[in-house]
Amino acid sequence: MRIVDVEKIKEAVSKAVITANTQLPADVLEGLQKARDLETVPRARRLLEIILENARQAQEEGMPLCQDTGLVTVHIELGQEVHLDGGNVYQAINQGVREGYKAGYFRASMVKDPLNRINTGDNTPAIVHLELTDGEEVVITVFPKGAGSENMSRTAMLKPAEGWAGARQFVVETVRIANANPCPPIIVGVGMGGNLEKACFLAKKALLRPINRPHPDPKIAEKEAELLQAINQLGIGPQGLGGDITALAVNMEVYPTHIASLPVAVSLNCHSTRRAVVKI
Ligand code: SF4
Repeated sequence: MRIVDVEKIKEAVSKAVITANTQLPADVLEGLQKARDLETVPRARRLLEIILENARQAQEEGMPLCQDTGLVTVHIELGQEVHLDGGNVYQAINQGVREGYKAGYFRASMVKDPLNRINTGDNTPAIVHLELTDGEEVVITVFPKGAGSENMSRTAMLKPAEGWAGARQFVVETVRIANANPCPPIIVGVGMGGNLEKACFLAKKALLRPINRPHPDPKIAEKEAELLQAINQLGIGPQGLGGDITALAVNMEVYPTHIASLPVAVSLNCHSTRRAVVKI
């Protein structure tokens, strides 16, 4: 049994929200550079150069990549041999978010109530997903996500007879409807199977996988590639102004489901896909 003080988790979250908001992950940067090299439409290519320049300046100057510094989701993979000590882990995570957003001078975007819209002032509460894993490690992924892309999410409970053709059509249609709103080039997270909440969770979790790492199951990796090709044929392009590259990647996760269900969830993330991973 390993004892981990929640203070360490607070400190890790506090640093990670700053890293995530100011430095694009290496795989996303690489994806944007690859997109710039492949893009054949001059205006779209120029937009990709501007997006890359923005990322360079943000990293060098410690400035946020985007004014929308997002709602923070924190995914914790908690080894079941770990005992958390020193307080409540949810409070520690929120304190980490609070301190990190204050130190980084990041915009606080959370409102206390969906209808009265009063800002909580410190970008808390975060949304926390806790998963138990084997071993003694704590892996924390901090994932701030802006509303421009979040608001374009869609979920469908398809009929099983609609099969892959129906699921494929739903994903591509979601990107078509979203158009410029999620600030393309986007990363498309797809969750298929489970039930309503599981499919949504999988679509989000898919966005945490580096975009240069296809799904380990070749059949699913094939579907990811098929979706990416269909999405890029839409011609939406960087920032919706037309071009070859609408999406940098499609990441899909699947799960067993009920005999009468085919849930499909789509979570879109903008070119400013921010995540930071810390292991304790
Ligand atoms: S969708 Fe992304 S890049 Fe666009 S405004 Fe929102 S956070 Fe910023």
